[in-house]
Amino acid sequence: MYDICVVGSLNMDMVVNVERIPNIGETVLAKGFKKIPGGKGANQAVAARRMGSSVVMVGCVGDDENAKILIDNLNKDGVETKYLKIDEETPTGVALIYVDKDGRNNISVYAGANLNINNEDINRLSNIIKSKIVITQFETPVETAIESFKLAKQNNSITILNPAPAREIPEELIKLSDIVIPNETETEVITGIKPIDEKSIKDAAAIMLQKGAKYVIITLGEKGAAIIDNERFTIVEAQKVNAVDTTAAGDSFIGGLSHYISKKGNLSFDVLIEAVKFANKVSAIAVTREGAQSSIPYMWELKEIFG
Ligand code: ATP
Repeated sequence: MYDICVVGSLNMDMVVNVERIPNIGETVLAKGFKKIPGGKGANQAVAARRMGSSVVMVGCVGDDENAKILIDNLNKDGVETKYLKIDEETPTGVALIYVDKDGRNNISVYAGANLNINNEDINRLSNIIKSKIVITQFETPVETAIESFKLAKQNNSITILNPAPAREIPEELIKLSDIVIPNETETEVITGIKPIDEKSIKDAAAIMLQKGAKYVIITLGEKGAAIIDNERFTIVEAQKVNAVDTTAAGDSFIGGLSHYISKKGNLSFDVLIEAVKFANKVSAIAVTREGAQSSIPYMWELKEIFG
């Protein structure tokens, strides 16, 4: 049994560095270009693995050069990739990412093969999916998210939903989610409430809790993250760092948080406070470096920087 199973996406990130992000119809000269392994699922898997958890990745890639690079990269870190599906007909997912001089980004994703994982695949891998923790996002089909969480719940696994990219969460899925982790934009899309202060954060979280989530964690960028359940509310402040590229901030946070919970072995509000402190450190290092998987720190770096 693995500590963590990630059912999610693998994308090749095509990263273009620009002074400022172009407006519609405008052309700007870029200062740099790199292909960096990414995809929310793969990023979260790498983050948890680099902290020390055993991690298995479930998803789908094409039969192409990008897939080879992505799989090699996961293998290098020791994420188990042998259950990934290879679809010969469809290209591997790609993300087109602009990063401006202040490290802000703008992303569009072509999902490609990521959408070709289905419930049959999930059921075939039911023994793999029954890990201590199961994480999923919205870059793979929502039906597979539901099916994975159903299997996870049969096994009393802890389920973590990162509802990204933003869309409404089906009722069936939110009921199966122990922790829902949206960022500010996703929170607004899901609840219609912009989480700008304590009241709006509580109101937005209440909607997700009322629909069946046990805990809600809203990530607030440089402000840190809010933890909310039916009784308690707290904000854990972010680490103060000089951000150069926030790509994979959320993914590093989720990988770090999942690792902490998996080591702890149980879930409570107090465990989540400590888990968020830990996750804030992982993502703080990630925002000081470029790219997705290239920016995610290892445990030894965390120890070196934060003690
Ligand atoms: P992205 O989509 O850019 O990967 P996100 O929008 O999903 O990120 P955020 O809420 O921006 O997620 O950030 C996730 C976590 O990363 C925050 O809760 C915080 O701990 C950390 N973080 C993000 N930006 C900063 C920053 N500028 N300084 C320190 N920590 C940061």
